[in-house]
Amino acid sequence: MISKTMEEALNKQVNREYYSAYLYLAMSAYFESITMKGFAKWMRIQVKEEQAHGDKFFDYILARGGKVTLGTIEAPKSKWASPGKVFEEVCLHEQKVTGMINALVDLAIKEKDHATFEMLQWFVKEQVEEEEHASGILAQVTCVGDVPGHLFYLDHHLGKRE
Ligand code: MG
Repeated sequence: MISKTMEEALNKQVNREYYSAYLYLAMSAYFESITMKGFAKWMRIQVKEEQAHGDKFFDYILARGGKVTLGTIEAPKSKWASPGKVFEEVCLHEQKVTGMINALVDLAIKEKDHATFEMLQWFVKEQVEEEEHASGILAQVTCVGDVPGHLFYLDHHLGKRE
């Protein structure tokens, strides 16, 4: 069994992971609106990853005999000034998520909940990758600037994500 405090914290994280999916879905719609199909596809794959993160917390709560309680998912914004601004936000968002995962690890340590601590290590590693990918693409977008030809090349490149 997990404690009520841990159950509540993990339920909150289910919501946050689904919010991440929703945010990236909004970003995908933005990229579609400016005909950046590759960026849009990259974001759609990101949406699936975030849903899988939410599912992982969901399944873990159940596996530990906890109760899943789903809350309202906040509406994300729908407009950005440029592809660069989107990736600035992705970087900040992923740093924020890393902070949330770290806070959950702190709680698991405080509660001497070894199973949850162990489960969270997957997310600790995942966040290293998420931040690396986001900052890598931000660097590329910044590098090509607003040159349309270069931006379309990057769009084509990102569209190859499987
Ligand atoms: Mg996530």
